[in-house]
Amino acid sequence: MGDPRVVIVGAGMSGLCMAIKLKQAGLHDVTLYEKADALGGTWRDNTYPGLTCDVPSRFYQFSFATNPGWTHLYSPGPEIRDYLERIADRYGIREQIVFGTEVTAARHDDGRWRITTSRGPDEADFLLTATGVLHHPRLPDIPGLDAFEGPTFHSARWDHDVPLKGRRVAVVGTGSTGVQITSDLAGTPSRLLLFQRTAQWILPAPNREYGRLTRAAHRRMPVLDRLGYRWHEAVISHVLSQALIKPGWQRRLIGALCRRNLNKVTDPDLRARLTPPDEPMCKRLIASGGFYDAVQRPDVEVVTDAIDHVEARGVVTADGRLHEIDVLVLATGFDAHAYVRPMDLTTSDGRTLEAAWQDGPRAYQTVALPGFPNFFMLMGPHSPIGNYSLIAIAEAQADYILGWIRRWRAGLVASMAPTADATERFNSDMREALPRTIWTSGCASWYLGKDGLPELWPWTPREHASMLRTPVFDDFETTG
Ligand code: NAP
Repeated sequence: MGDPRVVIVGAGMSGLCMAIKLKQAGLHDVTLYEKADALGGTWRDNTYPGLTCDVPSRFYQFSFATNPGWTHLYSPGPEIRDYLERIADRYGIREQIVFGTEVTAARHDDGRWRITTSRGPDEADFLLTATGVLHHPRLPDIPGLDAFEGPTFHSARWDHDVPLKGRRVAVVGTGSTGVQITSDLAGTPSRLLLFQRTAQWILPAPNREYGRLTRAAHRRMPVLDRLGYRWHEAVISHVLSQALIKPGWQRRLIGALCRRNLNKVTDPDLRARLTPPDEPMCKRLIASGGFYDAVQRPDVEVVTDAIDHVEARGVVTADGRLHEIDVLVLATGFDAHAYVRPMDLTTSDGRTLEAAWQDGPRAYQTVALPGFPNFFMLMGPHSPIGNYSLIAIAEAQADYILGWIRRWRAGLVASMAPTADATERFNSDMREALPRTIWTSGCASWYLGKDGLPELWPWTPREHASMLRTPVFDDFETTG
C-alpha cells in the first residue's frame, strides 16, 4: 500500500514521541503542525518561577532516550524543555515541524483527512492529535478583574518583564502551580499574598540535587539510567497509583505522610486554615518540599477569606478588607475538558467532534473515536494522567497507534475506527469503576466532568499499557 501520510497536531512531548516512533518505523511522510513558534507544549507555555515536574526526572523522560544529566530528583521546567529540544534534534524531528501554524479543521472525505490549517490546506491518511490536556488557561470569574491597575497574568502566561522584587504580589490559587510559585517566590516580593479558596494536601517531596559524581556515573553507565527509570516507575505504580484507585496501605501511607507534613506548620490558626476539608488525593496530589516553610515566613500571608472582587488598588475579600497589591498572578488552572478543541473535526457523514462530545470527552481505550476513521489521540480522554509520568503513557499510546499504521502500510486495512458498541462497553466499565477511586470522595477538582465523574483512568497505568499492547481487532470497523 506504500507509506501513509501522517499529520500530527502539536509538537509537545506526546507529538514528539509519536513522530519519533514513526521515524523509527521507517515512516517519513510525517508533518507536525505546531501553532506556536517553538516546541515543548506545556514546558514551553509554563515558565513561572519554581516550575518543576513533580514526577521524578528519571521516570519523566523517554524510556528510549534517557538523560544522564538531570540535575535534580524533580527537574526544573527549563531543563525538561531543553531535553525535549535536544530530543527533537537528535531524532531529526524538527525538520518535520511546521511552526506557527494552527490546524483549525479537518474533514474525513473519500478515505483521507482534508485538513485546514492557518497556512492553507493539507491532506493525510492518518490524523493524530497530540494537543495536550492542560492547554487552555482558565481565568477566574472574579468581578472587577479588569479594574486592577497593576499587571495581571495567568501562571501559564508569565510576564517576565514585570519586576517582583520588593513589590506586593498576590497569587490566586493553591493547586500544584500556586504551591510551586509560592515556594519559589517567597522572599522576593516585599509581601506575598496567597489567596486560598480550598486548602490542599501536600506530600513532602524535598528536591534532592544530583551531584557531579552521580551525573558522571550515569553518563558512563547507561544501565544506571535504566535502573533509575524502573525504580521510580515501580514506586509510583505500586504505591501512588494503587492509593488512587482503591483503599489499602498505600492510601493510608500517603494520607499519613500528608497529615504529618502539615504538622510542620506551628501556628495552630494557620495550620487549621491550611487543613483541607477532603481526603488526601481527592484533588490531584501536590508534592512540594518548601511550601509550608514559605507560608510561615513573616512576609507571606495566606488569605483564606473569599475574594469578593478586585478593584484598582488590589483584592477585596468578603470581610470588606482591601489587600493592596502591585502584581496579580492567577494560578487558577486550566480548562481540562477542552480536549482537541477548538479544532473542528467532521466525518464524511457529517458527524462532528463537538456533537460526539456534547456530554464530555469520551473515547475508545483513550485513543480512538467511533465514526472517526484513521484518527487517533495521544493523551485522549481518560488517559491515566493522575500523578504518573505522562511520557510513559504517551509511549504506550504511540506504540498502539503505530500498530494500526503498520497494518495500513502492510495493506491489511485501509480504514479503521472503533465500533460504537465497543466504545460504549469500555466507557460503561469505566463508569462502574470510577466511583471506587479517591477522586469521587467529595471534593471539587478539574478531574471531574459534567456528569460528576472524574475524566481519569480508574485502573492502574500498567493496566492501561497492557490494554494497549493487545489490540482487540473485533472492536474495530475496518475496510480494505
Ligand atoms: P488547579 O489544580 O486547577 O488549581 C487551581 C487553583 O485555583 C485552585 O486552588 C482553585 O481553588 C483556585 N481557583 C480557581 N478559581 C478561583 C477563584 N475564582 N477564586 C479563588 N481561587 C480560585 O490548577 P494548577 O495549579 O495550575 O494545576 C493544574 C494541574 O497542572 C495540576 O493538577 C497538575 O496536573 C498540573 N501541574 C503539574 C505540575 C507538575 O509538577 N507535574 C505542576 C503544575 C501543574 P479550588 O481548589 O477551590 O477550586
